Amino acid sequence: MRTLDDLDIKGQRVLVRVDFNVPLDGKTITDDTRIRAALPTIKEIQKRGASQVVLLAHLGRPKGREEAFSLHPVAGRLAEVLGGQVPVAETPEDVGDARVTMIENVRFFDGETKDDVELAKRYAATADVYVDDAFGAAHRAHSSNHAVAKLLPSAAGLLLEREVKTITALLQEPDRPVGAIVGGSKVSDKIGVLRRFIELSDVVLIGGAMCFPFFKAQGHDVGDSLCEEDGVPLAKELLEIGGDKLRLPVDLIAGREFSAETETKVIDGVDVESGWMGLDIGPKTAALYADEVRKCKTAFWNGPMGAFEMEPFAGGTRAVAEALVDVPASVVGGGDSVAAVTQFGMQQRYAHVSTGGGASLELVEGKTLPGVEVLST
Ligand code: AMP
Repeated sequence: MRTLDDLDIKGQRVLVRVDFNVPLDGKTITDDTRIRAALPTIKEIQKRGASQVVLLAHLGRPKGREEAFSLHPVAGRLAEVLGGQVPVAETPEDVGDARVTMIENVRFFDGETKDDVELAKRYAATADVYVDDAFGAAHRAHSSNHAVAKLLPSAAGLLLEREVKTITALLQEPDRPVGAIVGGSKVSDKIGVLRRFIELSDVVLIGGAMCFPFFKAQGHDVGDSLCEEDGVPLAKELLEIGGDKLRLPVDLIAGREFSAETETKVIDGVDVESGWMGLDIGPKTAALYADEVRKCKTAFWNGPMGAFEMEPFAGGTRAVAEALVDVPASVVGGGDSVAAVTQFGMQQRYAHVSTGGGASLELVEGKTLPGVEVLST
């Protein structure tokens, strides 16, 4: 993969694809981690003498030009953290000569998600060289991270480079024991990565709502728990190939309803009665999982152990998050695990917190990321 060192940047206009897909509450950015994560690349490009930086980014999934998905609030925040002004050009043709400028949400333009070359030519016309720093979008082939990279001299920015190198290195030569902690709501979303973790790891710890298809496959009652039916045959397959490596909860915290105020109880075992739903791993499981995690030299974590957004069901996720701090090589990947460690104020305490959920999963799975491949050929 080409990096900044492979590009001639001095005196050039540099088009940079960033991942500014931040959570918004109206026009307020509730977490600016992704904006901050792009700063080293923007500053490095400026240090290397670029005449102008033109930023490309997407925000959410707008249907056409929807004001709610405008990048104006993002440009405002970037201007605050970078200093100076960051004007937003409504179209590529509107890019002026500000030192740092941003083109409006690329998903406002027809053809962006179809990797349209004509649109890519409009982006490319704004600059002399292209840098992709959007790891979070690297598993997609879109005009702003794929077609455009073929039209200009192109390379990876510092963030994309670090994400790909760190995760790939850990997959290739991990220090053992290797642990994988996988949670979240669905088995089917993570089936590829679960198969890969069973091959790669010494222990695979399952939590979150995705444990219920496993329990159902084993003949347990799941009560009113969130249980993906299509996940049951997949769970059966994983139980067969996983053998002793695959660990499931031995107790649960259940609630009457999916609510922070609901009545709760600890279930010693994994059968859930009707009228109750499992919403977190139980205290015995949390302690067992934390012990397993602390034994590891390398660990990958994707997906929460419970409905961590609600305090009564955050304990399992917090126990894993705390144990993972002691693991020398760790990757926290996946939007919800990152949201959890951010909620706990622990995001600085890990070897690597990935900015890309889908992209990190596909990288672990061994898939080629189109946004990376195009910078390598
Ligand atoms: P995912 O997007 O698949 O990673 O799933 C993350 C979501 O799963 C989070 O919003 C959690 O609140 C939710 N979750 C985790 N465990 C449970 C559970 N036992 N029951 C219901 N939702 C859960």
